[in-house]
Amino acid sequence: MLSSQFLELKVKYNNQKLIYLDTAASALKPQAVIETEKDFLSSRYSNISRGISNLSVSVTKEYAQARQKVLQFVTSKSNGKLVITNSATTALNMAASFYEDKLQLGDEILVSYAEHHSNFLPWIKLAKKTGAVLKVLEVDNFGQLTIDNLVKVLNPKIKVVALTYVSNVTGAITPVRQMAELIHKAGADFIVDAAQAVGHMPVDFSEIDCEMAAWSAHKVYGPTALGFLYCKDRIIDEFSNFLVGGGTVDDINFADSDIKPIYKKGLEKLEAGTPPISQMIAFAKSIEMLQTVNIKNIVNHEKQLTEELINLQSLPGIEILGSISSDNRLGIISFTHQNIHPHDLGQFLDDAGVVCRVGHNCAVPIHRRFGKVASVRFSLGLYNNLNDVKQAIAVTKEAINFLDKV
Ligand code: PLP
Repeated sequence: MLSSQFLELKVKYNNQKLIYLDTAASALKPQAVIETEKDFLSSRYSNISRGISNLSVSVTKEYAQARQKVLQFVTSKSNGKLVITNSATTALNMAASFYEDKLQLGDEILVSYAEHHSNFLPWIKLAKKTGAVLKVLEVDNFGQLTIDNLVKVLNPKIKVVALTYVSNVTGAITPVRQMAELIHKAGADFIVDAAQAVGHMPVDFSEIDCEMAAWSAHKVYGPTALGFLYCKDRIIDEFSNFLVGGGTVDDINFADSDIKPIYKKGLEKLEAGTPPISQMIAFAKSIEMLQTVNIKNIVNHEKQLTEELINLQSLPGIEILGSISSDNRLGIISFTHQNIHPHDLGQFLDDAGVVCRVGHNCAVPIHRRFGKVASVRFSLGLYNNLNDVKQAIAVTKEAINFLDKV
């Protein structure tokens, strides 16, 4: 789909045709996004918000329109806003910081075995800071987060639940909407890590009704150094600062011996310093591209490729981590071989032009749960086609023939 817009796919890689199966780590960028950022930087660049020049005023407007476009892409109701950060990781650290003055000794925080470290470590840190207890929700044998397992552990001591929407290892989709209802009934807030969901399936944070949700632009065919924390309006009102600095205060009061900053209200108190302006303006183009293709077509396309990719399972010695059905999952497939180290497989694949990821992929908990140290991960983007998948499987087969000498 649209592969002609991704010029990197035309560049020879290791003297071969590039087969890019690493979108879960970061997506390639379409030419429209690259051109928009280049054009902005070379013809109308300015800082935003605090300038009075026409240039600054017009860029401030363009930036605000881009924010609105992105917000509307992930919400259908107007009861929340997007805090612009520099990554999903920053957004998740920010989400955890919200609870620093709200949790007490004995309260509980619930995360899961399916989390990326970016949605695991900030909650460990929060637990240490507040004296709260970190609980880890079990996954089933396919690495799936289930309603049954959630219901078993929900209790009034849990004040916040932070779960991944889509696993970056198994591709499993979490039933977040149903979970939100149960979590709220139990009296807790719900934070969603949507880093692997946005761009690959319809996402509507206002419909899910989560308190906050994090994701980053570079996985959605956009620039790096741009992330988002969707927050319900109530959360924005209650948030005290995460970072402080330029743009966050109306005034600083020197009247008493105690110097007092008068912080702004709303989004501004949460966005200190100069934001990723050119990235945000370019990212609006990624969103336009996804809207033009239509997310339903992307879902169908990636599902068809996933069905093909699952055929990896029939190669000798291969074990797919998680479900081998194409239902209720996205195009992220991690696998191991009984005798060959993932790094050796990854090296062989790379030499043949197949770019993928190997290691624990910032997801030690689920690898431990599967009894693995590392895996090889293939992940799909809209620019992949059946040939890419067939070629990746064929090279994996060759790698096994060559490397499995046991
Ligand atoms: N959450 C999940 C599920 C991820 O897969 C990733 C990145 O791989 C992150 C969070 C962190 O995203 P970023 O590195 O863009 O901050």
